[in-house]
Amino acid sequence: VKERIEVLAIGDELLDGRVADTNTVRLAQALSLVNGHIAQRTTVLDDIDAIVQAAQACVARGTTLCVVSGGLGPTTDDLTSEALARYAGVGLVRDEATAQAITERLQTLGRVVTANQLKQADRPKGAVLLPNPKGTAPGFSLNVQGCCFMAFPGVPYEFDAMVEASVITPRRMQEPREVRTLCCFGVAEAEIDTRLLPVHQKWPQVRVGYRVRFPEVHVTLRALPQDVGSLEEAYAFAVEQLQDALYAAEESTLAAQVLKHMRLSKATLAVAESCTGGLVQDMLTDEPGSSDVLLGGVVAYANSVKERVLKVPHEVLEKEGAVSEATVRAMAEGVRVLHGASYGAAVSGIAGPAGGCSSKPVGMTWVAVAGPQGTFAKMFQWPFDRRRNKVMSAYALLNLVRKQCV
Ligand code: ATP
Ligand code: MG
Repeated sequence: VKERIEVLAIGDELLDGRVADTNTVRLAQALSLVNGHIAQRTTVLDDIDAIVQAAQACVARGTTLCVVSGGLGPTTDDLTSEALARYAGVGLVRDEATAQAITERLQTLGRVVTANQLKQADRPKGAVLLPNPKGTAPGFSLNVQGCCFMAFPGVPYEFDAMVEASVITPRRMQEPREVRTLCCFGVAEAEIDTRLLPVHQKWPQVRVGYRVRFPEVHVTLRALPQDVGSLEEAYAFAVEQLQDALYAAEESTLAAQVLKHMRLSKATLAVAESCTGGLVQDMLTDEPGSSDVLLGGVVAYANSVKERVLKVPHEVLEKEGAVSEATVRAMAEGVRVLHGASYGAAVSGIAGPAGGCSSKPVGMTWVAVAGPQGTFAKMFQWPFDRRRNKVMSAYALLNLVRKQCV
């Protein structure tokens, strides 16, 4: 039988805009690591008929595993056990050990044991209980007409723990996958996909996946252990194809790569930021151990600060303006001297939406790095909104630093 996985997410809150169905998202992410994928998702209200119909439709589509999220709690709107029992044509049975555990837990907390609490121990007859390491209500699995329904509580951290234990771990033991990750910046996802088209033809055993976290694109290549030879070939091909955009041939952030390279050469870094307002240093300090490398920096937003703290010459600011090659070079050199770092990095740009002119349009950004080999500057012209222009500027600067210190 060919595997087909579906998700059935249950809850009024998922359909009235109160809660985003992040359980399905994280299930999909976890499954992708063991080469599984969700074929279809259904979301229904806390309603018995709706759940029964959804389960029926799921089986009719040839689904072999249906992961059910939510509706296992104590309240009247928690109807998953009852609905799946009805669909399977069986009654509900109480698991005495679970009822006992719930009772004891409530007593320890000094709370009364109400009838609805014990409802959490009720399961469709024939269901196998699935342990819940993070809460009281266990999940269950129930086979109906060739489909295995696995029901888990909706609370995200309970759902995650149970998915890991009952869905992901068994699959990992069954068929481990080899994975290679390539992290790119500066080339769009569609362009990357086009460059990697030959992978599908040459190495059909290798599965290509994309994850975009603006402005990063993470490409994953996966294969079964017996196809690791093909995987390595495909990986080498992808590294070559993406050379200009690749900042890490492993799962990593751009900031982590900069820190890694600098740490290896015992280099230190100081940063001067104008339009990014501290974003570059935020990205760097998100990485544990960044203090080995990052000495500090200056958010030099006003020209007076660029002049007074970073020693950008008054004439340069007057004549060339704050967003110019001369200014950004002086900023990089200034912050390098100020903090006694081996590298000084600087960024100055027009994030928008206003503040541009014909010679310096919105989105224009200069970045510079001053280091042992001299000072290097680069100009970019971003087409995005203010926030994204700032993010791109921060990435462009870190990327220039990375290229200077490898
Ligand atoms: P319990 O009632 O014991 O908390 P339950 O299995 O009945 O567990 P629900 O009542 O459906 O779960 O949901 C519990 C909480 O989990 C809700 O407050 C909701 O915010 C969150 N939740 C439910 N489903 C999802 C989902 N698909 N994605 C993210 N969060 C969810
Ligand atoms: Mg609910």
